[in-house]
Amino acid sequence: MPQDRPPLALAIENYLASRPWAARWLERAAGRRYRLAVFPDRQEPVVVIAHRGRNPARMEQVARAVEQDWAETPRHCHDAYEDILAHAPGLIVVQLRRKNVCGCLGHRHVIVKEIPFSEPHDAFGDAAVGEMDIAFDRVESWLAQPLMDTALDTQFIAGSRRKEFHEQQLRFRLLSILLHETHHMVAPEATEDVVRGRSLTFYRDALANYVEIARASLSLTIDRSFSRLGKE
Ligand SMILES: [Zn+2]
Repeated sequence: MPQDRPPLALAIENYLASRPWAARWLERAAGRRYRLAVFPDRQEPVVVIAHRGRNPARMEQVARAVEQDWAETPRHCHDAYEDILAHAPGLIVVQLRRKNVCGCLGHRHVIVKEIPFSEPHDAFGDAAVGEMDIAFDRVESWLAQPLMDTALDTQFIAGSRRKEFHEQQLRFRLLSILLHETHHMVAPEATEDVVRGRSLTFYRDALANYVEIARASLSLTIDRSFSRLGKE
């Protein structure tokens, strides 16, 4: 998180740290962890990533998508979500799971279930609280734009560049799902087609932009992983 943390993020961090020792100990023992993330260009929403289990690195992926990758998407990607983020709940809890029973990528929750946020607290100030879940395993194997994902894949030859590409692709998927569910929260009457259309466009344009920049930078440098044309 940037140095100048927004007031709400600070208040939430203090709140989480000041809860009774026993509650925090039980949480830790259950492998429960929280990580806050804010978009670099706005104070709110504050995203609270809630993770249970042995893979805290996944939490960092979501945080990085919000804190860094968002800033690297084209202007029109931001514009498409400006209104939605401006009207989003001040606090968005993201329960990061491995899978969902129903097999969906994510859902918004009507009622906030994550314990520290399920009841009003002074630390939240005026901020509304929204909650969603994201099923990480599903997102990893999801082909958001099948033709495009496959076509781009072949441009990154095996090696470090391809690994980097896959990680970036995954973070853009996570970000697009987060934005998709936020859109549902803000506009519950919007149809799935409209919400999905916008989030898939976001994903496609963010990824295309990344590839374009990667390609431009590769043509200026001698990049072995790119020039060995699939010999690895
Ligand atoms: Zn949806």
